[in-house]
Amino acid sequence: MQLTPEQEKALDLIRQKQFVLIHGVTGSGKTEIYLRAAQEVCAAGRQVIVLVPEISLTPQTVQRFAERFKIAALHSALTPKERRINRQKILRGEVQLAVGARSALFAPFPNLGLIIIDEEQDSSYKQDNNPRYHAVAAALQRAQFCGARVVLGTATPALETYHLFQNPPDDKYGYIYLPRRVENRPLPPVEIVDMRAELQNGNFSVLSARLQRELRACLDSGGKAMLLMNRRGFATFVSCRACGYTLECPRCSVALVYHSDGQAKCHYCGRAEKIPEQICPQCGRPYLKYFGAGTQKAEAELRKYFGDARILRMDSDTTTQRGAHEKILQEFLAADRAVLLGTQMIAKGHDFSAVTLVGIIAADALLNLPDFRSAEQTFQLLTQAAGRAGRGSQAGRVIVQTYQPEHYAVQAASRHDAPGFYAQELVVRRELNYPPFSRLTAIVFAAADEAQARKMAEHYARKYAPQALGPAPCIIRKLKGYYRWQILLKDTEINYADFPAEASVKIEIDVDPLNMY
Ligand SMILES: [Zn+2]
Ligand SMILES: [Zn+2]
Repeated sequence: MQLTPEQEKALDLIRQKQFVLIHGVTGSGKTEIYLRAAQEVCAAGRQVIVLVPEISLTPQTVQRFAERFKIAALHSALTPKERRINRQKILRGEVQLAVGARSALFAPFPNLGLIIIDEEQDSSYKQDNNPRYHAVAAALQRAQFCGARVVLGTATPALETYHLFQNPPDDKYGYIYLPRRVENRPLPPVEIVDMRAELQNGNFSVLSARLQRELRACLDSGGKAMLLMNRRGFATFVSCRACGYTLECPRCSVALVYHSDGQAKCHYCGRAEKIPEQICPQCGRPYLKYFGAGTQKAEAELRKYFGDARILRMDSDTTTQRGAHEKILQEFLAADRAVLLGTQMIAKGHDFSAVTLVGIIAADALLNLPDFRSAEQTFQLLTQAAGRAGRGSQAGRVIVQTYQPEHYAVQAASRHDAPGFYAQELVVRRELNYPPFSRLTAIVFAAADEAQARKMAEHYARKYAPQALGPAPCIIRKLKGYYRWQILLKDTEINYADFPAEASVKIEIDVDPLNMY
């Protein structure tokens, strides 16, 4: 296969710089660049580690490496014996390349030459229990020690990674942007549907008239569709269906979360306000509504209107059993006309050439997460989901449903304008002093008795004032019988000795948290 001039440029950069970020649109041929870089390293007698977010979701990527290298695939479904055998092969250098999720980073190769991290922004690269580490930071360190190279690849880098490679500490860092797909395939047009207008037109369905029409056309022409549902349904935000207004904390600029006591609360600083009775403070109309889970409704409507097609659902409920992912994906591949409805896991990596329509049912469910990263995560998810459309010879189309069509994350994603989005988001982060311009530390206090958890959180909020935000209840306020409260610290060194291992209150400290608690 002939490389494009842009792929050649990226490969050259990898030869020159120790750490390279390949920021390439979906379909720009990043995997082929990884393969060539790995070949050069292996030819020099050194070994390669390839990290992918979830190995069960990326069988095609693994397959492409297996075709050209002697590989060891490291995944959680291996038996202890299989694990031992793999480890010995790696130690003796009998395999050239190990591919796996986060922990594959520690594969004990004798002469490691290259670490490749695909989809480097993926949250699965951060380990959320002890020892807490982020695979990207750990990879840069391991590479420093053994003189290996690191290649990070993604269509949507984490803002911290983007900022680091735009403002590198030394000349070991290289950045390249690949704005075009290979073989001159067009990026799919992204159409924004304003859900406020749907309401005005009397359509109360979760599927807009436009999306229904496109689904019908797609299925009738023998195509396949993917529909994305929101991923974290437990955070219930308050928003107006008529004008798109969303209740937000004026201090922290994150969405307020609705609580059953009738108050909307900020999960960063704890500020609480009474919710006006259904009346929207912005437009004065009675369409203020609580949004949260409820996308099961989408499945029911799909079955009602598109009963002639195979409707498949993929989320954490339908994939608890081993091999469930593969089974659903195979059914989707084999079906004649099919719709795959799922959470963000369907946006990752799949290369289905038959998918010609991608629909985002509720972009707002992401935009209104009570998290300062909500705009970044929305942009990433919309971009990745759009990337699933039109990868084959047939062109694709993307429909994004939202109550906030003018939001810059939605606008930038619809124009495939990553540089524009990152520039604007960095301005917002700098203004509010959020990462990458500050370091956050989350401290969670959990106890069976809520008053105890809260009291302890208050104690530490006072101790670390004025850098502490909170205390505030966690988004998941009660988990496994424990009530959870948290404080957030900006740019504060923690002295771990200040936190006694007290029996009645469990304390968790997370430096640079990726998801809010
Ligand atoms: Zn706040
Ligand atoms: Zn309104």
